[in-house]
Amino acid sequence: METFIPIQQVKKEHVLSNNTSANTIDSSSHLSTLERTFIWWAIKLRIFYFTCITLKHPKKIWSTYKVMLNLRSNVWGGNLKKIYKISGRYYFNQYTPGWPSNAYDTLIKSELRRHASPMTVAEKLSFVFLAITRKCPMRCEHCFEWNNLNQKEAFTKEDLLKVIDLYQKEGVLQFHFSGGEPMVRIKDLLQLIQFASKKSECWVLTSGFNVNDSTAAQLKEAGCKGMVVSIDHYIPELHNLFRGHPDSFEQATTAVKAARKAGLVVSISVCATKQFLDGNHLLPYMNFAKALGVQFVQVLEPRDIGHYEGREVLLEKRHIEKLEGVFTLVNHTPAFKDHPTLLYHGYHQRKVGCFSGSRSVYVDSAGDVHACPFCHTKSYNIISFLKAGTRQLPKKENYCPRFGKIA
Ligand code: SF4
Repeated sequence: METFIPIQQVKKEHVLSNNTSANTIDSSSHLSTLERTFIWWAIKLRIFYFTCITLKHPKKIWSTYKVMLNLRSNVWGGNLKKIYKISGRYYFNQYTPGWPSNAYDTLIKSELRRHASPMTVAEKLSFVFLAITRKCPMRCEHCFEWNNLNQKEAFTKEDLLKVIDLYQKEGVLQFHFSGGEPMVRIKDLLQLIQFASKKSECWVLTSGFNVNDSTAAQLKEAGCKGMVVSIDHYIPELHNLFRGHPDSFEQATTAVKAARKAGLVVSISVCATKQFLDGNHLLPYMNFAKALGVQFVQVLEPRDIGHYEGREVLLEKRHIEKLEGVFTLVNHTPAFKDHPTLLYHGYHQRKVGCFSGSRSVYVDSAGDVHACPFCHTKSYNIISFLKAGTRQLPKKENYCPRFGKIA
């Protein structure tokens, strides 16, 4: 049964008091129109420069450059202009390393080679979701790790360091540390970030548990660049009910404020259920996100795995149309220029395919490797490779079973 609380029963003052405190946060990561225009041209010129030096042949240069621009337009539903400056780097997507950086340049060159010779070039992973713990204080309605939760840890810290090393040898540019709740294992997490951030950009995906000014500053100091905080409703009671924890909303909003104060890029992630969309909650949620001062909002579609297994949670046509409408409205309409960028993977997945599997994999808290957290397509168990002393990972075979892959 889906969680349901009639909105009228929710105490209004609770919502208002939350918005009042959130409104006190400024939006210093926003750029002036002039700087934004300049940066976009600088990035486009850099991509064109890499196209020239990587591909060399004029015909291939122009056709591949156009393919890259078209792909971007398909992913964002148009020419996305939103961009943010945090700690000296520019970000337009939480899954693209900040610019300028070696990681950003490497990603562009890798994409260029892939699109110039889609049939022959060796595929390279760009980022990995790594579930570092099975422990979690939440009991979320949609949890994709449900069957692994709160059992004995499968990974030692040494295992995790080896996993990072193996994937970095494959060229991975971004690690997104998740769980369970990764902040349960803060001491190990800090060491993993210290190690991984020498070569890759590091993000933490959290419910907000154990994130405060002190721990957020420690993450930043260790080399962490961004944080994704799960907030599944702007109404505290509904979020807490979804997360199965009475303090979850308070913890999540505290985490957002602490992460911003520490100078991290901040995204909030929402599971858009049928009920959430039928209640027209996405636009108010975007206003809430703007007031919180985050740079990104990530909308996830519910999938019938983990805690949702056997439930009729998949969105219907009307929900998808609604999501796509808000996605283009928020990202491309002048009235929403100061709202966070809205990431909705379903938009490009249905139009051009999915990046998961070919660009990224999900290592779950038992060590099983899947295309993504929501498509359980186990192709190998990384812990058994570690035990066997393997120094090279097997070739990937983990494509998205729902939407197919992008070249
Ligand atoms: S979804 Fe994340 S926060 Fe929620 S119970 Fe599962 S692991 Fe914990």
